[in-house]
Amino acid sequence: MSQDAPPLSGEFATKAEAHLALGKEILFQMGKSIKYDRACSGGNDGVFRCPSAITGKTMTVPDDFQPPPREEGENQLEYNKRKRQAAEEAAKQAGLCPFKAVVRRFKCRRTGETKWRFDTLANGATVIPHSEQCEAGAVLTGSLLRSFLEAEVRANPDISGPGVIKALTAPPSTIRQHMMPSKSTLYRVLQAVKNDKAIVPSAANLADNWQGGDRKRGRRSKFPQEVQEFIFGLMTAKPSMKPMEALSHVRRRFPRLQGVADDQQIKAKAGLIKKQVKKLLQDAAAEM
Ligand SMILES: [Zn+2]
Repeated sequence: MSQDAPPLSGEFATKAEAHLALGKEILFQMGKSIKYDRACSGGNDGVFRCPSAITGKTMTVPDDFQPPPREEGENQLEYNKRKRQAAEEAAKQAGLCPFKAVVRRFKCRRTGETKWRFDTLANGATVIPHSEQCEAGAVLTGSLLRSFLEAEVRANPDISGPGVIKALTAPPSTIRQHMMPSKSTLYRVLQAVKNDKAIVPSAANLADNWQGGDRKRGRRSKFPQEVQEFIFGLMTAKPSMKPMEALSHVRRRFPRLQGVADDQQIKAKAGLIKKQVKKLLQDAAAEM
């Protein structure tokens, strides 16, 4: 895709919109799919790679990769960036597909609005293409699948599962049978679209990605892990729950917590976990 298609050089209102546009473009131009690199993305940017070059929630790094040493005077951010570039280069050397696109938030000087646009590479393109031999065939999934199903349901609210398959793959559509998801996925999403419901990630899925309380900062929390997990359960079941409400549940469930954590500490912990759950939900939404 060196001759960059216009849709990707535009501006997007949200990261999710940019994600969708990129997914569509790569599906139709290259017959391939994309995957959101959750660990390399932040609140102000989003990194997309080839699904064949992602393990878990981030890029695959070859086993023998040695991170470069940190240079004198280099701050953490600069070092992380250089380390990531080295890892990407090593992955490429190891034969992994180099596909990559980065979308970034920016503030429009004129209107003050926040928007998103893809980084432009030195050659003017916004995407490092999939390699020739890459076999990451595209399957219509996630938000891309949903956007197509929404259009079909809008046109015909009673459309059946087989009807959708026929409508989506009939000429002049460029969607082919092998790009379709499994029937169970298709019917599940179709049902969600018909009921106008969000496709919510399962709690188990969220828990897999939750690093738990302060564990990720590398210091051990005195706050009992069991209680943190209980609060996590509360927050995934009801993300709008106020820390005060969580406190009363915790007090009921763990009557002997007195002396281990006071009300203030429990509320603070509930507030923290609530934020973590919100982030996980956002990540999950961005990925779908
Ligand atoms: Zn690829």
